[in-house]
Amino acid sequence: MTAPRLEIDLDKIHHNASTLVERLGARGIAVTGITKAALGAPEIATTLIRAGVSGLGDSRIENIETMRRARIPSPMMLIRSPMPSQAERVVAQADISFNTELDVVSRLSFAAQAARRTHGIVLMVELGDLREGIMPGDLEPFVRKMLGFPNIALRGIGTNLACRSGVAPDARNMAELSALADRIDAAFGARLGAGPANRLGIVSGGNSANLAWALSGADTGRINDLRLGEAILLGCEPLHRLPIDGLHTDAITLIAEAIESKRKPSRPWGEIGQSAFGAAPAGAMKPDTGRDTDAGRSTQTIFALGRQDTDPDGLVPPAGIEILGASSDHLIVRSSRYHLSAGDEIRFQLNYSALVRAMTSPFVARVMKASSAPIREPAAALQGA
Ligand SMILES: *Cc1c(COP(=O)(O)O)cnc(C)c1O
Repeated sequence: MTAPRLEIDLDKIHHNASTLVERLGARGIAVTGITKAALGAPEIATTLIRAGVSGLGDSRIENIETMRRARIPSPMMLIRSPMPSQAERVVAQADISFNTELDVVSRLSFAAQAARRTHGIVLMVELGDLREGIMPGDLEPFVRKMLGFPNIALRGIGTNLACRSGVAPDARNMAELSALADRIDAAFGARLGAGPANRLGIVSGGNSANLAWALSGADTGRINDLRLGEAILLGCEPLHRLPIDGLHTDAITLIAEAIESKRKPSRPWGEIGQSAFGAAPAGAMKPDTGRDTDAGRSTQTIFALGRQDTDPDGLVPPAGIEILGASSDHLIVRSSRYHLSAGDEIRFQLNYSALVRAMTSPFVARVMKASSAPIREPAAALQGA
């Protein structure tokens, strides 16, 4: 079978998603399934819907378009503020987009009028992570102006933490989001026309990093939605990168094929400059002068996998295999337990960075496995022009 390839176990993804839907449901919180790390793969989107997510979200309009073409029957949210140049595409395919700029909402309003649709808006609020968001004190004036735009409906508010600066979701910042929802209801409730009680519909507390808070037994206040990607796909929470109890951490694995295996000195020899990706690796600073002695030799195996395929720093090899280095196309490992030869395959677990890079590489095939037959999806590069 082709390599490198991502093997995606849809049964395990289903288990992870339905477990989280159930646990959060008991706390009054719905799950928006985030598909960006899966490039909006329709099989994964369908799996999330079957597992009970309330809707799907993606940061890229291209991925939402992929899911729409596959007729995925779900509300879809664009969870990154739209580029103004993409306003028409956003209005055409996404039910809701996340926004922080009046100019962008104004472009969406024009596009929505032209398309004779109403476009939903979730306003993102900055609560300390210093990525996207309206400063809390600016939220009310923003809403006041926005409510004057035709064909635009305020559907909710949200925040995103733990992405740029690692700020943890906690009782304080979540209570602040709840309080902001109350303030918007009090100031504009009758004009929101949203829920039966003139309340904001969606109060979206954050991403997978919110799980510890949401499941801690803390008062969840107005928070009624979390947007989960990593926790579902990798079974990990991103704050400490710990496995989540009861979830599979190997729903997605990366398989690579060996192309060389030889006994070599453990240290390079010759004058040492920079390597292909910058500084010389640690341990290389003192070149090996004993290239003729066998002392310090070990078997290094090269896999046909590199920085063009994934983030080698985010790979977890099987026990007994150690990653020694990587360049664009080569991953060098030492195996203490197995004898590896050209043609042998090994399976890596991935962190989020390695997953996203592998998913977006045209060199990496995706193989979907479900309890029935495997669904093959060749790498884009192999699909032919
Ligand atoms: C990526 C993203 C998410 C999902 O994050 P995970 O850590 O994968 O759960 C949620 N919200 C926004 C705005 C995002 O960009």
